[in-house]
Amino acid sequence: MRKIPKHSRLRPKNKTKVRDYSPHHPNPCRGCSECCEYVALEIDTPTSMEDFDNIFWFLLHEHTWVYINEDGEWYLQFDTKCTKLKRKRCTYYEQRPQMCRDHHPAECVTHGKEPTEKIMLKNEEDLWEYLHYQRPVLYKKMVKKYGLDK
Ligand code: SF4
Ligand code: SF4
Repeated sequence: MRKIPKHSRLRPKNKTKVRDYSPHHPNPCRGCSECCEYVALEIDTPTSMEDFDNIFWFLLHEHTWVYINEDGEWYLQFDTKCTKLKRKRCTYYEQRPQMCRDHHPAECVTHGKEPTEKIMLKNEEDLWEYLHYQRPVLYKKMVKKYGLDK
């Protein structure tokens, strides 16, 4: 797994609250805590059967998704709230990690106008579908290995 990249906190899901960002707004985060409710880490682009075996395993876990962003980079996302988030407010603001300090609302999912993800895999069915259309040779191997009925 690679180091956490600069924009790893961009959240691809539940993009329902798009609103304009204004640098003049006194609190552009008011009422929002989206970016404190997940962890997303960039992973190596899967190429082999073993790599996709691992993604299969990731996706069998609760609150765990895999997505590909617009640049073709792969991310593993865990939906899990920060323990310092209470009633949508950070209770640890002065001590908050650098990751939190670097994250700017101008580039967050709430204010962004474009979807962050290109492809979202939320479960094994999504993975089979992705492989079926994008990696048919690997898909056939998966069908054989796991006895898929597609
Ligand atoms: S940075 Fe964006 S996603 Fe995070 S709390 Fe502020 S408005 Fe919400
Ligand atoms: S420390 Fe504060 S700003 Fe950082 S993720 Fe937790 S609640 Fe959010």
